[in-house]
Amino acid sequence: MVSDPCRIFLTLCTLTFTGTFCLLQGSPKVLLVSFDGFRWDYIYKFPTPNFHSIIEDGIHVKQVTNVFITKTYPNHYSMVTGLYAENHGIVANEMYDPVLNKTFSMDRMDIYDSEFWEEAVPIWFTNQYEGRKSGAAMWPGSDVNISGVYPSFYLPYNETVSFEYRVAKLIEWFTSNKPIHLGLLYWEEPDESGHLLGPDNPLMSYVITEVDNKLGHLVAELKKAGLWDTMNLIITSDHGMEQCSSDRVIELDNYVDKNLYTVVEHSPTVAILPKEGKLEDVYKALANAHPNMTVYKKEDIPERFHYLHNSRIQPILAVADLGWTILQNRSGRYLEGNHGYDNTEPNMHPLLVAHGPAFKRNVTKEAMTFTDLYPLLCHLLDIQPLPNNGSLSHVQDLLTSAAAQFLSDYGGQESYASIVGVFLGSVLALTFLLVFIKHVTRSQISAPQIEHPEITQPLLDV
Ligand SMILES: [Zn+2]
Repeated sequence: MVSDPCRIFLTLCTLTFTGTFCLLQGSPKVLLVSFDGFRWDYIYKFPTPNFHSIIEDGIHVKQVTNVFITKTYPNHYSMVTGLYAENHGIVANEMYDPVLNKTFSMDRMDIYDSEFWEEAVPIWFTNQYEGRKSGAAMWPGSDVNISGVYPSFYLPYNETVSFEYRVAKLIEWFTSNKPIHLGLLYWEEPDESGHLLGPDNPLMSYVITEVDNKLGHLVAELKKAGLWDTMNLIITSDHGMEQCSSDRVIELDNYVDKNLYTVVEHSPTVAILPKEGKLEDVYKALANAHPNMTVYKKEDIPERFHYLHNSRIQPILAVADLGWTILQNRSGRYLEGNHGYDNTEPNMHPLLVAHGPAFKRNVTKEAMTFTDLYPLLCHLLDIQPLPNNGSLSHVQDLLTSAAAQFLSDYGGQESYASIVGVFLGSVLALTFLLVFIKHVTRSQISAPQIEHPEITQPLLDV
């Protein structure tokens, strides 16, 4: 009669205490890695044993629908804000802001003007606001002063710094006396080689093998540091890559006077700023100029792109069909491989793989959207997400039942208040249990050792 309720109560207390302990452990560590320009299907085209090893032991999202335009800076900022480009303000790699009267250029590394970044708040800001530490190794934007905040630790951008050094710094930050909980790691390949060679070039096999080796190095270092079993590791990329051809080039000079406009962002989605009073002239000249180029006035950009409500989006947008290149003329920069096309094109999509205590094992999901990554990261970090364009519910099926249960119990809005609440609940439950056991043992069992007050002491100290 007595043993059943006692066992139930003990179980409840154990669960409550386990929850408390997990929360007080301070949330699992999260490492987000981006291999720039890693197209979703590279793992099927080239030998990639380290990717496949993680997939077998973790989760695999085959294709991630990234944000338009499918360029590097907009997507890396979407990953850490959960916002479409029109909402976070990094609408392209090359921008002109008519309100600020300033330009932003990734090519010239002219990206350090805080005002371009401050339409949104990146996850490292929120993580640190909640008392945690963050570390970033070359993540785009992480060495910019955004609203007065940098990551707790970061490396100033320098593409000559090796992958191995970046990993070493992250391991150092994760294992220090005051460790980071959020790590961000960026690597420039296979994007650079993809542009140079084109994704269909057989030499890409060597490039992808090298990237896979880098992943193997990362995993080995995490294991050596004792981080592998406790860390939630997410590997993804910002976009894919499409094979171009010098036979598929659209030359704007053939259709419109180059003195009537300025090109702000380049192929394959070209942002065009007409000279004052020349909007209609430029639009009419380009609208039906070429069957493989779609030209929009800003207000006509399709809703599905979520690419309208920002003054940095220029009055005219010319979008090339997949594999086509738009240049002013042949003297412009032609690339064998490119990205930036329509974000519904599969070849623009990266993959996402993940491994860690929060993730299921050997689970494949067909697709997700990039805006859902941010709420997932916030959940894993146990921090309050800011308003965003994604939803944790879209990716909840990637999580173990325990991690998902945590989600439904706390709605992804865990805070110190909830930690304190669970802790106090545990103390109350144990106090009640102690009284209960005392009552039972005195009246029925006569087991003086259970009454020993030291038994409870270690638990109350947790
Ligand atoms: Zn990129």
